[in-house]
Amino acid sequence: MRLGAYTVVRQEGGQLHRIVRFSNADFWAEVRHLIKGDLNKNDVTSRIIVPNTQTDSLVMPAASNEFPSVASSVASFRRWMPDRVLFTPAALEEPWGQQILARVQRLNLPVEELPRNRLTGLRGETERETYDIAKRTLAVVTAPASQFKLSPIPPSADWQFHLAEGCPAHCQYCYLAGSLQGPPVIRVYANLPQILANLGNYDQSSVPTSFEVSCYTDPLGIEHLTGSLAECIRYFGTREQGYLRWVSKFDAVDGLVDLPHNGHTRCRVSVNAAPISQRMEGGTASVAGRLQALRRLALPREQGGGNYPIGLVIAPIMPIEDWEDHYEQLFDQISEALDFNCDLTFELISHRFTPGSKEVLQSWYPHSKLEMDEEKRIIKRNKFGGIKYVYDTNTMKQLRQFLSSRFGTDFR
Ligand code: SF4
Repeated sequence: MRLGAYTVVRQEGGQLHRIVRFSNADFWAEVRHLIKGDLNKNDVTSRIIVPNTQTDSLVMPAASNEFPSVASSVASFRRWMPDRVLFTPAALEEPWGQQILARVQRLNLPVEELPRNRLTGLRGETERETYDIAKRTLAVVTAPASQFKLSPIPPSADWQFHLAEGCPAHCQYCYLAGSLQGPPVIRVYANLPQILANLGNYDQSSVPTSFEVSCYTDPLGIEHLTGSLAECIRYFGTREQGYLRWVSKFDAVDGLVDLPHNGHTRCRVSVNAAPISQRMEGGTASVAGRLQALRRLALPREQGGGNYPIGLVIAPIMPIEDWEDHYEQLFDQISEALDFNCDLTFELISHRFTPGSKEVLQSWYPHSKLEMDEEKRIIKRNKFGGIKYVYDTNTMKQLRQFLSSRFGTDFR
């Protein structure tokens, strides 16, 4: 057995059994204690693998059959590392762009400086190939002028703003499909200080004003590469009436816990019933990992937490086979993770799609089992004449009755 910083390599009879890497120092202490003691299979499955871990990655090579419940209960998860990082010349002139450059260099990621302030050469022969190339590419650019004119986003928040566009995960129902132009490359903004300074034009000093920063990206999924979410949280911690909210399907919150947020940031995670999260949310942290991250963010400071207001987004809700049982289990999982008093909100959103998002998603995920049958849906129109396909009235009524009673809130 060899112990190293945040790494356990355990051998029995010369055979490698597991490598577990933890991102949480407290949990690491507990693991060390376990290993010094009499570690047996039951300890491993019940104490390391239950959703109390802040697991950064878990690899089950060689003898993984020996611990089948371990392999099946926690998905392998690693922070996203792009194959290439592109910088435009304008991005490199920004101090925040230089800060991102230093981060990606520390991570030994291959950096390329583009000759012009345009992203080109990211298309493959097919849409799926383009998707593959784009989702492995981080581009550091400056936000265009249009990003300084904010749009309202009711009912989630008063305004939305963006620190990036695109997301490294692979959700087969992705909300971004059809919303963003061009290949789904992950573009992050190097002129963050200007973006934040502009928010002062929208937050009124007399009434609380809320800002959502996750409409076009998962800000936590790229935080290790940018540091931009932490900077936003610090900024809102200084505002009198400005409030930030973000949502994520990732779980690496170490860098956020100790920030001076002053109660002005609500951290949310998006979760779903197990069959949906396990089959349709590629590249994300497990639901157990997300809930433990949320727990840590919400716990009081004296218990090692961040004392943040928090929230859960249950989305996209789907009436899959045995859906009541699966959502009941999710509810139990949430209750277990958040078994203390905290400032918690819920948002429940049923699945919907548009003709445009369906076309894009089918090109990205041609083998997906996601149901998008117009015949089984009804049309809902927005005030601009756009249409989306939602569940029929009867299905919505059943979902609403069950979920509203469990989660204590209505949904859309
Ligand atoms: S986490 Fe959100 S933005 Fe990212 S792929 Fe999934 S649905 Fe899309």
